[in-house]
Amino acid sequence: MAVVLRVRPPSPRERGAPTVLHVLNEHTVLLSTEEPGGTGSTDTTGSTDSTAPLTRCPGSPRKNLQFEFDHVFDQRATQQEVFQHTTLPLLETLLAGHNCSVFAYGASGVGKTHTMMGSKSTPGIVHLATLELYKRLEAMKDKSCEVLVSYQQVYKERVYDLLQPQGPLNVWEQPGKGAVVQGLSFHQPTSPEQLLDMLAKGNKNRAQRPTKANAASSRSHAIFQIQVKLCDPTGGLAGDPRVAKLSFIDLAGSEGAWASTGRGEGLWEGTSINRSLLALKSVIRALAGAKGGQSHVPFRDSKLTLLLKDSLGGSCRTAVIAAVSPSAPAGRDTHGTLRFASRARRV
Ligand code: ADP
Ligand code: MG
Repeated sequence: MAVVLRVRPPSPRERGAPTVLHVLNEHTVLLSTEEPGGTGSTDTTGSTDSTAPLTRCPGSPRKNLQFEFDHVFDQRATQQEVFQHTTLPLLETLLAGHNCSVFAYGASGVGKTHTMMGSKSTPGIVHLATLELYKRLEAMKDKSCEVLVSYQQVYKERVYDLLQPQGPLNVWEQPGKGAVVQGLSFHQPTSPEQLLDMLAKGNKNRAQRPTKANAASSRSHAIFQIQVKLCDPTGGLAGDPRVAKLSFIDLAGSEGAWASTGRGEGLWEGTSINRSLLALKSVIRALAGAKGGQSHVPFRDSKLTLLLKDSLGGSCRTAVIAAVSPSAPAGRDTHGTLRFASRARRV
């Protein structure tokens, strides 16, 4: 699993706040935490998996923690650079017939959707990947190909179709095939432009709810999938079609219930988002542990992990883009994200 870190610029609200996350080089960051018992020294063990709760203790010594990643993007990094280091290498694997996935992980407001979707002037990695994919498909003139697109959302542990909105869809597991979402619509774009129109339409349909952390934050997990089927046009029985899909997952904010506006709906949403994220963490932990031997991977613990069962582990290739703010008020979330991301690197 390739894990990269993207540090966004301080937001207007954070301007003036101290910086607690420093990019040391293309692979390393240093986080200054307010940990009780901190020595003020630099801990270079990297994956410092401290499970001690972070209690606020003004004036307590700060502890510097260092974390390593496959790549670290500082606030000046362009969408193109992030694309080239995360998604571009996956296209080769996809066209060779293996499923691939790209996750954006992090608290609300750190740049997950910016990285995935971007804006008109700075299109995100899904846009850039689509253009590159079509370029490659056109270059493979000896093969006929078919592209199928779907866009789903997991919201309060229910699965919705973002391209053909309706009530929640049933999901079940088909032995050996992964999850089947009953009634999910699949669309066949005939050009990259048409594919991107579908993406834009789905984005409009995402459930949004203002939270304290970020007024425009989405509380849902969005899964955009591009399935590619390559056939030999000369037909015959010689080659089976190569089918594989590329999944882009824009995860809900990882800060969980404690940062949401509070009671009722907001809290319930937080808890259920936590359930899918917790399950994702357990799956990643199990995959990391399974590297040398057999181990149970709890894909069934949430809708998110069930849906992604065929796109994680095995011959699949995964990139995780962990997004963080560099500023002090976000320090606790940043620490949580760095810990998750460095654990994911072991998969
Ligand atoms: P998230 O999806 O993680 O909740 P967003 O992607 O919506 O966060 O980002 C929150 C705000 O920060 C948006 O206004 C976005 O444009 C801005 N932003 C995020 N990352 C960057 C970046 N790398 N450079 C410039 N602006 C960014
Ligand atoms: Mg978002």
